[in-house]
Amino acid sequence: MSARFHPTDDLLLAYAAGSLDQAMSLLVASHLTLCPRCRAEVSRAEALGGALLDEQPPSGSLDHLLDALLCRLDDPEPIVTRPAPIARPGSILPRPLQQAVGGDLDGLRWKRLGQGLEQALVLQSGRSRARLYRIAPGLRIPEHGHDGTELTLVLQGGFSDVNGHYLPGDIATADEDVVHRPTADETVPCICLAVTDAPLRLTGLVGRLVSPFLNL
Ligand SMILES: [Zn+2]
Repeated sequence: MSARFHPTDDLLLAYAAGSLDQAMSLLVASHLTLCPRCRAEVSRAEALGGALLDEQPPSGSLDHLLDALLCRLDDPEPIVTRPAPIARPGSILPRPLQQAVGGDLDGLRWKRLGQGLEQALVLQSGRSRARLYRIAPGLRIPEHGHDGTELTLVLQGGFSDVNGHYLPGDIATADEDVVHRPTADETVPCICLAVTDAPLRLTGLVGRLVSPFLNL
């Protein structure tokens, strides 16, 4: 399996620098278990980061450090990629998610949001929330926009929106400019991890009607 939609370089660098909040960090860590390409990027950033920290005075700002890292990442240097953590056999949850939920999907407190749509809160840190969604095959989610950023990592099944078709390992990114109505694939229930840094904004008529019930 190789993902086609990845976190941005900035996000991977911020992860490598340990500057992401818990929810976003969980999403990136989960993607890394499914994506050799991004594991290689993070390993390289960590190696370069260590070297840069040795070179620079400790007063250097994080932005400055990230800029320096972004420049160096273009260098064709050999990299040693860390191995992916081993997930529990038979589980679709990547190891970091298993640790965050303390087990598997069955141990979560699923809340029914509507016909064919369930949600379980995994963790919250500040304004960020990490939630798992279980979406019935073929279901269309009510149209919604975003006041902040919403990143969604597919773990099982798949879904489509205006920007593409997302399969396990892929990350869909939606920000203030994106109003979308994702539709789950017809095959198996779609299970995904979504991290938001602000509440979702339901825009369509149906969205506005169901919003109070969805508790988003
Ligand atoms: Zn990736």
